[in-house]
Amino acid sequence: MNIILFGPPGAGKGTQASNIVKTYKLSKVSTGDLLREEIRKKTTIGKKIKSVIDKGELVSDKIINNIISKILLDKKYYDRIIFDGYPRNLEQAKKLDIMLKQNNQKISCVLSLEVDINSIVKRVLGRQVCSNCGLTFNEYFNKATSKNHDCDSKFLVKRADDTENTIKNRFDTYIEKTLPILNFYKEQKLLYEINGKSKIEDIFEEIRNIIASLET
Ligand code: AMP
Repeated sequence: MNIILFGPPGAGKGTQASNIVKTYKLSKVSTGDLLREEIRKKTTIGKKIKSVIDKGELVSDKIINNIISKILLDKKYYDRIIFDGYPRNLEQAKKLDIMLKQNNQKISCVLSLEVDINSIVKRVLGRQVCSNCGLTFNEYFNKATSKNHDCDSKFLVKRADDTENTIKNRFDTYIEKTLPILNFYKEQKLLYEINGKSKIEDIFEEIRNIIASLET
């Protein structure tokens, strides 16, 4: 089973991806995380993409396709990926179809978390990511506590691109470049639209029901 988690920045993709990983033993592939890792390690790619990410624009398809093609060749990911933040435009979606076919795989479903811009600004500004375990929390809506998080609170950090200026750009990029993908998947009857403003547990229950319906 390969799943795409779709939605604007701050829709809760990372949180639901972690839930899905735990329950279905899938591997999360977040292109955003992989790109931030390149920046952190100051690689050649990392140096090239930092300013693009800080502006809230999309990194080139060539860089993204390279990252994904390597992952698809890795047997440990075979037919057990949850894509978070990828594909981000129609070209990437079409290229993914081709690469999956070449590896005898396909997309099982596309889960689209729908959230309006006002909620997104609040969510993104409160977002905290654990630099140790990768879990995402929110200082207003989903605080890290000893019940939901094992690491020390010193690991909770803000993302460099979670600023009020960048979030508006990232949302505009999403509307212009990413939203058109929805029709592509709707036509293939792979799209499931979910209210991303519901409670985290309720959204996950809806996701579980969708996945159960695929398995029957
Ligand atoms: P995310 O963590 O998914 O919010 O991504 C953070 C930033 O990384 C985005 O605003 C883009 O600049 C870049 N990025 C992540 N995934 C992609 C992708 N599939 N294609 C192009 N750029 C991406």
